[in-house]
Formats: sequence, structure tokens, C-alpha cells
Amino acid sequence: MLKVHNTLSRSKEEFKPLKGKAVGMYICGPTVQGPPHIGHARTYVAFDFIRRYLEWKGFKVKYVMNITDVHDDIISKSNELGIDWKELAEKNTKLFFKELDGLHVKKADSYPSVSGHIKEIIELVKKLEEKGIAYETDDGVYYNISKFPEYGKLSGIKIDKSKTGTRVETDKYDKENAQDFALWKKAREGEPSWDSPWGKGRPGWHIECSAMGGKHLGEQFDVHGGAVDLVFPHHENEIAQSEGASGKKPFVKYWLHSGFLNVEGEKMSKSLGNYIEVPELLEKYNPKVFRFFVAGLHYRSRIDFSEKAMEEAKAGLERFNRLIEALQEANGKDSGEMKKLVEKAKTGFEKAMDNDFDLPSAWAKLYDFVRDVNKLIAENKVGNKDSEIALKFMKELDKIFEVFSFEQKSGTLTEEEENLLEEREKARQEKDWAKADELRDKLAEKGIELTDSAEGTKWKKTE
Ligand code: AMP
Ligand code: ZN
Repeated sequence: MLKVHNTLSRSKEEFKPLKGKAVGMYICGPTVQGPPHIGHARTYVAFDFIRRYLEWKGFKVKYVMNITDVHDDIISKSNELGIDWKELAEKNTKLFFKELDGLHVKKADSYPSVSGHIKEIIELVKKLEEKGIAYETDDGVYYNISKFPEYGKLSGIKIDKSKTGTRVETDKYDKENAQDFALWKKAREGEPSWDSPWGKGRPGWHIECSAMGGKHLGEQFDVHGGAVDLVFPHHENEIAQSEGASGKKPFVKYWLHSGFLNVEGEKMSKSLGNYIEVPELLEKYNPKVFRFFVAGLHYRSRIDFSEKAMEEAKAGLERFNRLIEALQEANGKDSGEMKKLVEKAKTGFEKAMDNDFDLPSAWAKLYDFVRDVNKLIAENKVGNKDSEIALKFMKELDKIFEVFSFEQKSGTLTEEEENLLEEREKARQEKDWAKADELRDKLAEKGIELTDSAEGTKWKKTE
């Protein structure tokens, strides 16, 4: 039975989607003011594993990630650069998709953007206003948190509503009214704006996810995630907005929050000079090594990126890839023991993952598997059948992680060897088996072993 840690209840709960096997999952996407950084990479890779594990278990996941393309940070950055906000946002959205692809993150089913959902956002704000939960001021429309008695239930933050003017630490855009937050901001000079019942303006930050989550997954859905910094105020405010408007509880059944990524023990920041963007990461490291690094740690723990950690991840991943190679080359005698080893590893793996995606324990089971299989191979107890059973299992795991390499390493051929191979291919096509065999022997003398299959001939250097 799968259990997930729900930030809302602060405990692990049995995972039971609202509608059978269908899972609606919404992950807060990036503010596209610049290229994605490795903190984004950690968050989106961690949720990629969670999504793929749910799919591995037979859930049908509808995965939605918003793109925040209207935001104070984008506006100020574009002013700084002297370009249009939209141009900046579009450029960085493209780059974000490219980098996620580079990180082998599976595509979302949709990537709604703020600028594409102004109508839905206005509708939601209007609804809150009609219900008396939101009010208009000179500079915008605000959410009145005293109208939502459960405010604070996600983050556990207590707000003393008896004192007016009590300052709570909210995001930097909610300046005017300490405890209430902006749903709509009236237009200011040099900022993008849209027509609305309150004159020209643009959305506040939090409202976008309530509007887009509602539109793409419904008023109530299963999983909402993001990194832990979003619990307050962003997700707290999403609950207030969505439940306030729909009157339906809960807006989201399971709130999942992943840990932050630090660099060499420090918070990543441009001023500290430890700010790493994904393009730079992928220039230096294989994306699969980064994925393996993230996969080895619990999604809820803070992780520390360093060269050493990446070296360790590389070495760990190599153990698995070496096992794959050894299995591909295994030519012992099948002992039939592999099936049991796979079953044991799979059961242990699934049990660990079912416990709130406990990746470190899950990988521990897989390391045991590597050790056991290596031993079998060393004892010459693995032939074609057993190696296939093991490889099938590793491929199944790779549907979740996408970290392993299954391409057979085979070195390079000299021109003469290439020609011999081509000649043999021709002979085979002409069904001249005697000649094909002769050429096979010739290549074998040169240390090249051939395997013929329906997909063609594979070769391998044995020396
Ligand atoms: P942002 O682009 O700042 O709006 O963030 C988009 C997502 O990335 C949110 O879920 C953030 O919580 C997450 N995020 C931002 N910085 C980091 C970091 N250093 N480590 C992990 N996640 C982060
Ligand atoms: Zn969000």
C-alpha cells in the first residue's frame, strides 16, 4: 500500500486518488525570468520520479505544470535589459523546456501560462469578490483572510486576527495590507496590464495556480507539489482562494513538498557566486549522473550539491552500468536463480518506494541486487535466459529513473573490419551461408564476436 507524506496532515497517509486510478497532479512551475538553475532541476527531477513511480504502479497521471510568465521579477528583469517582458518570458520558457528535456524529465500533459489564463483568473477573483471574501482598494483587489477561518492550516502559521495591522511575513508583492494578499494589481506605468472589472491591471502571484489548477484538473484534485519554500505563503493562499471560491474541501488531497538544494552547504545565490544554471550543469555532467544523484536522496530532504557528491553519484551509477554490461556479456550456464533475486529486489524496492517514496532505502535494495547478481555471474551461473530476466528488471526500473545505459559498448572497427562486416551482411542477404560463416571466422580471429538477430547483426570486441 502506497503511503505519502501530506504536508496538510503532517503525516503519512494512504494514497487513494479521488477517482480510482486517475491522478491529477499539479506542480508549481518556474518563474521564467532567466534560465533554470539546479534548484529547479532538483525539484522537477524529484517530482518526475514521483510521477513516474505512480505510473509504474498503474496510476494514470495527468501532470500539469504552470509557467509563471507574468511576475514582478520578470517585469523588473525585462526593464533592466530593455526588452519586452513577453520576449524575455518566451525566451526563457523555451530554454526551460529544452533543459528539462536535457534532464530527461518527462513532459507534462500541459504547461498553462499566466498570460494565457487571464480570463480564468479574473473569473476567480470576481467570484471571491461576490462572495465577500475579496475587496477592492485603490491599488488592487485583496483577499481578506479573516473570511477564511482555516487560514494557516497548511503551514501551521497562526495569525492573530484580533489585532489589526499584525504583520505576517508574506511574499514581497503583498505590501499594501500586511495580512491580506493581492489577487489583482492595478496597472502601473511600464507594466503589462489587461482589462478587468477593476480597470486595467494584472494578477497577483498566488491566484494563477488556483485558476490554472482548477481549469486543468478541476476544483478538487489529488496531488499538488513544489519545493518546501512554497508552503507559505503560496500554497496556503492557494487553499484559501480555491476553497474560498468553490466551498469544496479539500482543494487538494495530498500536498507534497520537496526539499531545497544547496550548493556546498550554502543557499545558492548570485551574490555568493555559487549559482549554477542548468546549461552549465549539463555542460559539465551527464544528466543521468545528476538524476542518479537526486534519485539517491529522499525527495523531502535538503540536498547538497557539490563536485564530490557528483563524483560519488557517478561512481554509484557506474556500478549499475557495469552490471548491465556484465549481464549483456554473461555466457555462463543458467541456474534459474535470477528470478528469485529479481523478485526479492523488486519487492524490497516497491516496499521502500511505497513508504513515501523512500528512495535511499529503495536504492539500498538495488545495491544488494547488484552484489548478488555479480556473485552469480562470477560463479558462471548466468546465461542468456537469466541475464535477460535481470536486464528486463533493470529496464523496468529505468522507466522510473531513466539513468541506466543499455547500449552495448563495442569499441570501434578498422576500415578492413568494417568491410568484412559489410561483406558478410551481403552474403547473409544473399543467403550464402557458407561465405557468411567464413567471414564470421575471419572476424573472430580479429577478436570480433558477432550475434545475429532479427534486428540485424551486433558485434562486440572480445579483446
Ligand atoms: P521559481 O522559479 O523561483 O518560481 O521556482 C520554481 C520552483 O522551483 C518552485 O517549486 C521552487 O520552490 C523551486 N525552487 C526554487 N529554488 C530552489 C532550490 N534552490 N532548490 C529546490 N527547489 C527550488
Ligand atoms: Zn504555484
